[in-house]
Amino acid sequence: MSEREGRPSWDQYFMEIAHLVAKRSTCLRRQVGAVLIRNRHILSTGYNGAPSGLEHCLDIGCLRQELGIPSGQQQEICRGIHAEQNAIIQAALHGVSTEGATLYCTTQPCSQCAKMLINAGVKQIIYEGDYPDELARQLLEEAQLTVRRWGCIDSKADRG
Ligand SMILES: [Zn+2]
Ligand SMILES: [Zn+2]
Repeated sequence: MSEREGRPSWDQYFMEIAHLVAKRSTCLRRQVGAVLIRNRHILSTGYNGAPSGLEHCLDIGCLRQELGIPSGQQQEICRGIHAEQNAIIQAALHGVSTEGATLYCTTQPCSQCAKMLINAGVKQIIYEGDYPDELARQLLEEAQLTVRRWGCIDSKADRG
């Protein structure tokens, strides 16, 4: 057997990177990390937080937090941008195509992110934590993206 004990699968590798990226988040409620890859090559990364140069919820507070708005609702009143959107924006900023990419994300994308991922040409999504957004699931299914929850299938097939 050529595999060294403990060597991560590709899925594990990219998901652990997504978790590392999430640590940069400045959101008060949930730290999310996203990595866009193609052919096992990282195209871009993103975490949730305020736009560049603007003050973060972490520093000045967040209206969603103050009003006790439930997860998955009224995201527009937070100044933060979602991790998946930031990953797409980073790719655009640096002139990298996201066509045919795979997204690794620590949380299931919301419906706003799902729409953007579809139009960014992302074809596969691997997420870890659930997110209460049924519309997102419907949109991704209708657009025929491959969506799977990390840990739900034996990823040994992905080793290589
Ligand atoms: Zn906020
Ligand atoms: Zn989102």
